[in-house]
Amino acid sequence: MTQEFAAGAVASALAEYPLLYIGGDWVAPVDGGMLDSIEPATGKPWARVAYGGEADIDRAVAAARKAFDGPWSRMPAHERAALMRRFADLYATRTEHLAALESRDSGRALREARADIGMHAQYYHWFASLTDKHHGRTIPVDDSVHAFTSRVPIGVVGAICPWNVPLMSACWKLGPALAAGCTVVLKPSELTSVTALELARIIEEAGFPAGVVNVVPGYGAGGAGERLATHPDVNKIAFTGEGATAKAILRSSADSLKRHTFELGGKSPHIIFADADMDQAVNAATNSAWTLCGQSCALGSRVLVERPVYDRVVAAFTERAAQVRVGLPADPATHMGPQASQQQLDKTLRYIGIGRNEGARLVTGGARIESGALAAGYFVQPTVFADVTNTMRIAREEIFGPVAAIIPFDGEDEAIAIANDTSYGLTAGLWTSDLGRGHRVAARIRAGMVWVNTYRFIRWSTPYGGFGASGWGRENGLEALDGYLETRTTIISTHGTFPNAYAQ
Ligand code: NAD
Repeated sequence: MTQEFAAGAVASALAEYPLLYIGGDWVAPVDGGMLDSIEPATGKPWARVAYGGEADIDRAVAAARKAFDGPWSRMPAHERAALMRRFADLYATRTEHLAALESRDSGRALREARADIGMHAQYYHWFASLTDKHHGRTIPVDDSVHAFTSRVPIGVVGAICPWNVPLMSACWKLGPALAAGCTVVLKPSELTSVTALELARIIEEAGFPAGVVNVVPGYGAGGAGERLATHPDVNKIAFTGEGATAKAILRSSADSLKRHTFELGGKSPHIIFADADMDQAVNAATNSAWTLCGQSCALGSRVLVERPVYDRVVAAFTERAAQVRVGLPADPATHMGPQASQQQLDKTLRYIGIGRNEGARLVTGGARIESGALAAGYFVQPTVFADVTNTMRIAREEIFGPVAAIIPFDGEDEAIAIANDTSYGLTAGLWTSDLGRGHRVAARIRAGMVWVNTYRFIRWSTPYGGFGASGWGRENGLEALDGYLETRTTIISTHGTFPNAYAQ
């Protein structure tokens, strides 16, 4: 059966994605159905997508197991790499198409989707180069044995992705999983499933053996996601999403003792010292507050500003907010699209209310856009709260909306104390013209990624992940492979004798 891809369908007709990709075939759901994908810019359905239930996940896991035990594990590493490269090259030719679909499905601005998705092929190429680089070690013991370790693939991976960066999240899991020699069942968010099925189409064209990558959209709790988490034959869950969901996955997967990597939320501090290059710092801080309409785990949602430049930075934020072009995601001029869902819009507006009630000073924004061409969508104004204290909920809890919380501080020690006073620990940024201070402060910040005089600089080769409540394990970098490999120690006797301890 072939999937009917109606991408780019005219606005009035719903694009149809009626099939799942399992075991190298396009198949109708057994116990799933069809779900509507809502276009955040209009609040209306734009696509109908097949979703799978438990029986579909069971089929997909069986296909992934068969591929893992069969052709994929027997394929020489350089041939796996060649397949990954072919896939990466095909993916590169689809960037524009994928960006347009992701922008429509998730609401992120097209220019931003292009910039992100345009890099994915390089991620896949880099991971392809690692298929034969996960070496073991030889271990000196004594001359009676030869002891060595091998890094072997974990097996079948359930990759569960969020709605904010659907293709990036899939890329960060598929790349290392395939490089390690694992097979994958990919479950995108029920809010943004379209591009995962497009990705399956590229997998098919690249010629991967059947079952190496399976794509099953579906719901989380009580649906395909939970079945993946509980499935006894899934060896590992690679998850990006909310902390509460990660805990639910841990609970439901406890009986199978599978492995987990978790990329969760953040409340990242973005620290501006008085000696910083103020233009650059404000560019980065405002950009990182509103990119993706605030729906990225890495954003600097807590802006810590040294008191001598505090008023200046607050004024600059207000000025920049007025320059943000909030608009339809498909318009190439748009800086910031809508929130990805009604639920996310409601959450942001609720937190704006909380900020007001807690006594933070709302200096700009703070409302839904309710008139003109954007009225039907989930658009919200870029919002800035000043005079925030780190005890306020808007400084402690992840809002996932375009809401910056500006917090004043005095001196390095206080900046570090505020920065680290969080349950999260994903990313952090700091701006200073003093190189020594840059090193000093970076070394004391408890976060998985610290940027000095830059922000959100991320590459395939740089490990990404969090301390504390921001997650377990790392994506990207050589460290990403660790999450998809087991270590086997082999000890071989060099004498061929084993004394009989019971002989006397
Ligand atoms: P979410 O946790 O609601 O959903 C993520 C995925 O989990 C979806 O595919 C969903 O269907 C599935 N799911 C939900 N309940 C499940 C269950 N009980 N068992 C198995 N699967 C289940 O997250 P979201 O709202 O889609 O994404 C936003 C969150 O993701 C934010 O908290 C954000 O910070 C985080 N995020 C983190 C990173 C990172 O790299 N650290 C990147 C992007 C997003």
